[in-house]
Amino acid sequence: MTTTRFAPSPTGHIHIGNLRTALMNYLIARKAEGTFILRIDDTDPERSKEEYVDGIKRDLEWLGLHWDRLERQSERLDRYADAADKLRSMGRFYEAFETPTELDLKRKKQLNMGKPPVYDRAALALSEAEKDALRAERGDGVWRFKLDQERIEWNDGILGDISIDAASVSDPVLIRGDGQVLYTLASVVDDTEMGVTNVVRGSDHVTNTATQIQIIEALGGTVPAFAHHSLLTGPQGEALSKRLGTLALKDLREQGVQPAALLSLMARLGSSDPVELHGDIEDLVEGFDISRFGSAPTKFDAEDLFPLTARYLATLPLEAVASHVAAAGAPDDMAAQFWDVTRENITTLRDLEGWWSLMRDGAEPQIDDEDKEFVAEALALLPDGPFDGDTWGQWTAAVKAQTGRKGRGLFMPLRKALTGQSHGPDMSALMPLLQVVKARS
Ligand code: GLU
Repeated sequence: MTTTRFAPSPTGHIHIGNLRTALMNYLIARKAEGTFILRIDDTDPERSKEEYVDGIKRDLEWLGLHWDRLERQSERLDRYADAADKLRSMGRFYEAFETPTELDLKRKKQLNMGKPPVYDRAALALSEAEKDALRAERGDGVWRFKLDQERIEWNDGILGDISIDAASVSDPVLIRGDGQVLYTLASVVDDTEMGVTNVVRGSDHVTNTATQIQIIEALGGTVPAFAHHSLLTGPQGEALSKRLGTLALKDLREQGVQPAALLSLMARLGSSDPVELHGDIEDLVEGFDISRFGSAPTKFDAEDLFPLTARYLATLPLEAVASHVAAAGAPDDMAAQFWDVTRENITTLRDLEGWWSLMRDGAEPQIDDEDKEFVAEALALLPDGPFDGDTWGQWTAAVKAQTGRKGRGLFMPLRKALTGQSHGPDMSALMPLLQVVKARS
């Protein structure tokens, strides 16, 4: 059965780049009617925070990306210890004692000699007595996985055929000196034991994949199908890594971005399929095909989320937004009319408040100098309330008859006088909602 996972480390809020990973894995699982696992990669007790775990869940729930299973690496430490023992007994695991400074020095020397900075495996030559002496002096060493120095190959779901020379990669450290198991091992144990069949993640993990394939094979697991998506850049192609913190899903949510807009954009961005607005995630599942994604960096512009949000909101019935309409201040008996008038004139639901205050309190009129007399004359002709759907038509007909103005020259100054802006809802529909004008008339 197809099984995928989204495996965030709870060391911060998830951002648009994480969403891309989560969504691709989610869509693959749903399309195959398989299982989507949320795996919390919390092996680092210092940096992992419960508030981030809660935040990740909240973000995924908000988006409607429901997981079938929740796993936490911190609850599986004994599994990783077993795997480590197995690697030790196979002779694929060795303890090394170099300090970070020593490693750094080795790297610099290698680079100076024009060699790739690969760990030289000096620790493999240590005798037991030497190890004991080092352990006594420096404490426990780190545990490195001994790579087989051959080419590691896989057919990547996005990048195509990949071949990496294991000799160009350092033997990965899987357990730190303080005993903390590192992600590289924990992830492999989990993927194997949880039956993960497909792994989609960012292309920054390509080298990890090479080493993890060897670890999976050493542990007797089945290598999943890997796909590495390109990294996101800003609209100008600039690196986004530094700015990703400002593109947290919770911030986008607070700015009023709708899940449908985010999902519609991120499920297709960087693929050869067009971005289309889908209010229903089932439509995104249906048309999703990982092989249509390219390896080139993908340009992302958060501004694109707003027109999609606006288009999505315009399709919604009142029931879907009733609490927002009420929060904006519109009373129940006017809610339907208010929503009808505003829904095509907002970018996000946050704009509702502005529209309601305009209707309740009136707007600062915008009257161009050359229209001053005209507007005064027109306002004198404003019929008595209550206003209805015909008020605008009757009023403007009367103003036209008296002033001879017509078309834009007639309508625009009146719109600007009543709403303080040159764009907005159909005036016939808006007039009955204008409380202040009604009260004044
Ligand atoms: N916790 C890892 C990360 O956030 C997961 C990578 C993976 O998908 O294997 O980068």
